[in-house]
Amino acid sequence: MHDLDVGGATRANSLEEHWMPFTGNRDFKINPRLVVKGEGMYYTDHKGGRVIDGSSALFCSPAGHARPEIADAVSAQLRENSYTPPFQLGHPGSFELARRVAGLLPEPLNHVFFVNSGSESIDTALKIAMAYHRANGQAQRLRFVSRERAYHGVNIGGVSLAGMVKNRETFPVTMPNVVTMRHTFTGKELFCDGQPQQDGVELANDLERHCQTYGGSTIAAVFVEPVAGSTGTLVPPVGYLERIREICDAHGILLVFDEVITGFGRLGAPFASQLFGVTPDICTMAKALTNGSIPMGAVAVRDEIYETVTDASPENAIEFFHGYTYSAHPAACAAGNAALEIYRSEALFDRAAELAPYFKDAMMSLRDHDLVTDIRTIGMMSGLEVAHDGVPGRRGQEMQKTLFWNGCHVKFTGDTAIVAPAFVAERAHIDEIVDKIRKTLDQAK
Ligand code: PLP
Repeated sequence: MHDLDVGGATRANSLEEHWMPFTGNRDFKINPRLVVKGEGMYYTDHKGGRVIDGSSALFCSPAGHARPEIADAVSAQLRENSYTPPFQLGHPGSFELARRVAGLLPEPLNHVFFVNSGSESIDTALKIAMAYHRANGQAQRLRFVSRERAYHGVNIGGVSLAGMVKNRETFPVTMPNVVTMRHTFTGKELFCDGQPQQDGVELANDLERHCQTYGGSTIAAVFVEPVAGSTGTLVPPVGYLERIREICDAHGILLVFDEVITGFGRLGAPFASQLFGVTPDICTMAKALTNGSIPMGAVAVRDEIYETVTDASPENAIEFFHGYTYSAHPAACAAGNAALEIYRSEALFDRAAELAPYFKDAMMSLRDHDLVTDIRTIGMMSGLEVAHDGVPGRRGQEMQKTLFWNGCHVKFTGDTAIVAPAFVAERAHIDEIVDKIRKTLDQAK
């Protein structure tokens, strides 16, 4: 029984009905934090406070909040054509968006399948891998490899691949045939700017060991986030991704990069694959695809995967029995096209690359604080780890709330703050975010 007063519009029990995701519902409803407006780098909370966004929401909005270009494009689309079934019908916006996305990806990732979220992109990638191997006469490849401390969303496919205990322990019935490699955070190189130097090949050789144990010819695909995002910006050591690629090639295994966070400029290149010079066979994305304005995700595959799957069926047949009612929704495509146009016309990926050194120095300035145990940065993304208070995660949760009331939003996972400002940020915005984090660290118990 909690009331909420938003500009005088109080309704009894108005918070009770919504069961909120990944939220301490009881605690939240006692002390809610509602955003009633977003503009550029700032949110406005329901009490009228200004809150700077230190995490581009959830890494979704590199062009800042409430961009009028996107709102106008979506509004125009909804007036023109609000929905077209995506099965055996189409509309122009999806083809334009697929061309734009393919144009940002390295060759030969030229075919794009649209979905509605990052989690759906993972399920779709799993099914594309199965469909490809079946069409290619390798239907015995039914095993998948992922990594500890991975986050691949919350659908059963993503949870099966995930390496975060809280996301798994309640749901033990997941996909069989998934084996995990070690995560890439060794703790040997704390306060690391960019890629750690040590152990890259050694850690990647976990995949080779799985090939020796299970048979490389039984493995369909390996899923990795090029930089593990949700578990705190875990940057792969030098040589790691290259060695994973090499082992995949040697055994005919598909390499899937989950670029739901790293896609669309977060690391200062269009995709992480370009930054690291390693091209996957399949790339998943979501979040910044529409600047966070409309739910949408996508899976890009290299030409040979598309051609193998489509050529395996008779000409007039459906080739891939998969898709969502809202795949390539016209409003989402309009939002995606408008967002990608903003990124292009404002050269925002270059701007992210230019801003990254300033951002890194600003984040690293926090290393002198007693509570800070590590800081990792790459591009416009950083993980700031805070000592736990005896109960892992408790201090992080409290800090996230205090920080909000100090006027800054940052996403926390456990005791790690994941700071990832929008690319439209000015240096003064970065200073403001870091100052507010320092103030909050000073107040932390
Ligand atoms: N994959 C990665 C790497 C993510 O970071 C996320 C979400 O944070 C997902 C998948 C799931 O995306 P969604 O929450 O849109 O389903």
